[in-house]
Amino acid sequence: MKQSIFIVILLLGINLSVCLAHETIELCENQHLKVQVLGSGGPELTTDRASSAYLVWQNDKAIVLIDAGGGSALRYGQSNAHWEDLEVILFTHFHADHSNDLSALVKASWFGDRNSNLPVFGPYGNETMPSMTEFVAALFDKNKGAFKYLSDMVDVEQNSDYKLVSNNIKNVEKTQMIFKKDGLTIFAHKVKHGPIPAFAYIIQSCGETLVFSGDTNGQGFENLELKNTDLFVAHNAVPENAGRVAKSLHMTPTQIGEIAKHINTKKLILSHRMNRTLGKEQQTLDEIKKNYSGTVIFADDLDVFSTNVILLDK
Ligand SMILES: [Zn+2]
Repeated sequence: MKQSIFIVILLLGINLSVCLAHETIELCENQHLKVQVLGSGGPELTTDRASSAYLVWQNDKAIVLIDAGGGSALRYGQSNAHWEDLEVILFTHFHADHSNDLSALVKASWFGDRNSNLPVFGPYGNETMPSMTEFVAALFDKNKGAFKYLSDMVDVEQNSDYKLVSNNIKNVEKTQMIFKKDGLTIFAHKVKHGPIPAFAYIIQSCGETLVFSGDTNGQGFENLELKNTDLFVAHNAVPENAGRVAKSLHMTPTQIGEIAKHINTKKLILSHRMNRTLGKEQQTLDEIKKNYSGTVIFADDLDVFSTNVILLDK
């Protein structure tokens, strides 16, 4: 474990130094990463929450999409993000409330201007879940895909303006660097979500660090060593007194507070809000505050959070 911690710290250092080297480039100048919540809900049907999805904005461009749960395609349209600005799509896991709208977004992009390939990263597969490449094939494969009429989006033998390029993240305990382009560096960190292969993501640019928990019962974070985190998006899917099965899948508020303290985050954004936790915000806050003393905000759809100030918090 010490070695992986050392590697992460080393990589963080490398990233920071790369960023400092770019100091004169406008990429980092007075720019802060922003997180937009496209979907603040879980799998339940509600009147005002899409299922899980987030955008990371930099320099007025939405460059990373994390998950694409049901309803997030509409929220994506409302966000005014441009598909051609996306550098990468990340899936935390393939439960429907995190992946349903990928096909809707890909179809919508057919009417857009993207002309460079788009990498998509997600977990390895097991007997319960497909891998990232299997998931994309199940949707778009030219023979077996449910939407095989869109197979030109993945099939190199067909003409299309761009291709989705899917990548499986390995089943290893240590933090993995999966993407690096210009000043943007992305790490995947394996977490426990019952039997489902699942990853948290660490996104760094210009010396700022964002962490997205995805769905998890919190196991795995003890191996994640971050000296400083600017913003942590954690999933508040169960209350403190949740039952055994719910706790095997999701973090309690106490665990969220412990992890927020462990990764030393300046801000904690609570999302994936469900009927089990809605209306219990004060209780949730009280439990979190036993371990964590920073800023805590409950997210709603389309909220935008900056690493320095809250731009919009309805
Ligand atoms: Zn979920």
